[in-house]
Amino acid sequence: MPEKRDYYEVLGVEKNADAQELKKAYRKLAMKYHPDQNPDDDQAAEKFKELTEAYKVLSNEESRARYDRFGHQGASSGNGYPGMDFDMDLGSMTDFFESIFGSMFGGAQRRRTRRGSDLQYDLTVTLEQVVSGADLRITIPRAMPCDDCGGSGAQKGTTPTQCPRCNGHGQVRLQQGIFVMNSPCPTCSGAGKVIQEPCPHCDSGLVEKEEEFNITIPPGIEDGKVKVIRGAGDHGRNGVPPGDLNIHVQVARHEIFERAGDDLLCERSITFPQAALGDDIEIETIDSKVKMKVKPATRAGQVYVLRGKGVPHFHGNGRGDLRVRMDIDVPAKLTDAQVDLIEKLGTELGTVVHQKRHSLVDKVKSLFD
Ligand SMILES: [Zn+2]
Ligand SMILES: [Zn+2]
Repeated sequence: MPEKRDYYEVLGVEKNADAQELKKAYRKLAMKYHPDQNPDDDQAAEKFKELTEAYKVLSNEESRARYDRFGHQGASSGNGYPGMDFDMDLGSMTDFFESIFGSMFGGAQRRRTRRGSDLQYDLTVTLEQVVSGADLRITIPRAMPCDDCGGSGAQKGTTPTQCPRCNGHGQVRLQQGIFVMNSPCPTCSGAGKVIQEPCPHCDSGLVEKEEEFNITIPPGIEDGKVKVIRGAGDHGRNGVPPGDLNIHVQVARHEIFERAGDDLLCERSITFPQAALGDDIEIETIDSKVKMKVKPATRAGQVYVLRGKGVPHFHGNGRGDLRVRMDIDVPAKLTDAQVDLIEKLGTELGTVVHQKRHSLVDKVKSLFD
């Protein structure tokens, strides 16, 4: 993760700037770098994101106080700054901007116009991928404009003609009793055009195509997060722009580790001698192996904490802990020599062990006693 710049510096204001100054500074800079003003300019988009993040944190009293005390690290306590999460892609940042200043560039109107359907995709990631972060490639079938007819739905060489019923308006006036209503034209379904010779390769201008998307899973992502890719949903008919692709991230259960926030929990069995005398053991963490000191007189259920061996904090640096719950192994099968030793230990500890070894014959006999 690249070093984050100070939020006050990002907005070019003093540390004691009041709400009005912050808003003014944000407005001025955000207008300059707004994606609608700088289409296809990644650097401007990054700048806009940085500004918006800074303003989001500083414009909220609670998160500003936290930021002032702890800096960017303040967010690494696990709950983060309000509203700053994975969902904040460029689209939702411009929405945020417009929610404060209104639509400056017609963006909000553009987004409010009719769009194709949104698509949903469930993406299951492993706990290992949550820890390391991952770049995944997914394939989504989506409705795209037909190449053959350019999305018009009319056979190559022909063009759709104006709908005679609505004269191209797409709407007709219906009278019901005293009410007059506008409703979509039933002949052209509101398109205003009718197709005389349909394109044989598509369904009214749309075809289903598989498209690949790269999805970046940032380290520490939580189960249930939704990533929205604007414009990656289905295209609509008649040149209606596409909807969004909503990716629901699910973290698969792990065989060994259980996740609790940014901490991981696991169990580890040791033998009674190790528990009694202590030992240096090797522990497999989610992404490495580490040595761990078992103290003498360790009890079953005792928890050892391995700092920084959990899940990376989604906000800020550092990682949660690995909590290792100790269990003491009681062997199911013992050799005669082992039984002798344990009996001796029992006697030494003042425990009279009544349970003697039974041969199978003894056991069968005892059933009939
Ligand atoms: Zn076609
Ligand atoms: Zn019509």
